[in-house]
Amino acid sequence: MTTRTPDKSVSCDGKVPFDTFTQANQVCKRKSKGKRDLCRMPYRCAHCHQWHVGTRSRKMTQADLLPVDAKQRAASVLVSGEQRKAAGQALVLENESKEWVDRFTFLAKCYLASLPEGALFAIEDLRSYCDTCGLPEPHSHKVWGSLPRVLMKAGLPMVMTDQNRKAHSPRTHAHRVSLYRKTGA
Ligand SMILES: [Zn+2]
Repeated sequence: MTTRTPDKSVSCDGKVPFDTFTQANQVCKRKSKGKRDLCRMPYRCAHCHQWHVGTRSRKMTQADLLPVDAKQRAASVLVSGEQRKAAGQALVLENESKEWVDRFTFLAKCYLASLPEGALFAIEDLRSYCDTCGLPEPHSHKVWGSLPRVLMKAGLPMVMTDQNRKAHSPRTHAHRVSLYRKTGA
């Protein structure tokens, strides 16, 4: 099996490397003249392991990211607990800003690009990567529950597995967390 690291030509070649998040972030801020520009953001490169300044794709809209019938499902009574949970998560997500979700999705792409094909990961791993990239916490921690579906819907190369592991993060108190597998792009 060949382990190819995808998108080197896009995500690394010709990009200015920075040693730290702070340096790359300063460039983002300067380019947007002090105004916070969410279309430009630093990411840790999977290829050279330095920081680059990325431009987020404008193609995705929040409508694409949300389960279409989330509202109807949330409104309907007597659905299964699992469905109710999913619908509730979708509603919480709907209240999260589009900029945050776009930024998160962008970082998730960078994170996945850094994993070899077939690698297992938990959402908390992605979450700590986002932490290191300076992504603020969403307005509600419940948002995290709906994000895997957002990513799969956005076409990121990942699938859910039936495996789980004990969470590493102290905030989850060693609950079991689901594992996802990176697939071929
Ligand atoms: Zn690079």
